[in-house]
Amino acid sequence: MKSLDTFDFVAIPGLNKSLLLELMRCEWIDKRENIIALGPSGIGKTHIALALGLAACQKGLSVLFTTAAALVHELMEARDEKRLRTLQKHLANVKLLIIDELGYVPFTAVGAELLFEVFSRRYEHGATLVTSNLPFDEWTSVLGSERLTGALLDRLTHHVHILEINGESYRLATSKKRQKLTAQSKSTKEDGNQ
Ligand code: ADP
Ligand code: MG
Repeated sequence: MKSLDTFDFVAIPGLNKSLLLELMRCEWIDKRENIIALGPSGIGKTHIALALGLAACQKGLSVLFTTAAALVHELMEARDEKRLRTLQKHLANVKLLIIDELGYVPFTAVGAELLFEVFSRRYEHGATLVTSNLPFDEWTSVLGSERLTGALLDRLTHHVHILEINGESYRLATSKKRQKLTAQSKSTKEDGNQ
């Protein structure tokens, strides 16, 4: 389980640490505010989202974690099976809804509308955390319609904390480090063999 105990703040100098620590207290959830975590792939967005979700669980708040693609898929399926209302109600009523990875998979017009409805129902009703690799001006590329994107962002960003995370991919940096260590240990072994 990802928590902030294993989070290396030094590795992500661009992150607003004091804001994140403040958000870990979960007051924003009680106030029905939102968080948008933005940054490139591998920078720690999912890790942070999970840590915030865990903090909320530990406070006894109901949390639902999903990816944008899985959520849209589930909404479409529920619609086909005539149980959309039940799912929508459930999605509207959790204290914290975490939608990870908005931006990798573009949605159909119906999918985007169903997703919009989730945001619309949660507006000033419950806290929502979204992570995305895309800056706001590119959200149209996954949601399709400019009008819908505008309306969605309008609701989502009315009461919002933005965590902008810049820098090099932690995933990439650690795998580079690992490769370097392997190469070093290989060369020391080879030296020893001489
Ligand atoms: P993203 O969601 O932005 O693509 P992840 O949160 O999945 O990135 O991070 C990629 C991997 O690197 C994960 O295993 C995550 O736990 C780890 N990681 C990322 N940033 C940090 C950090 N600052 N400290 C410790 N581990 C990190
Ligand atoms: Mg991620």
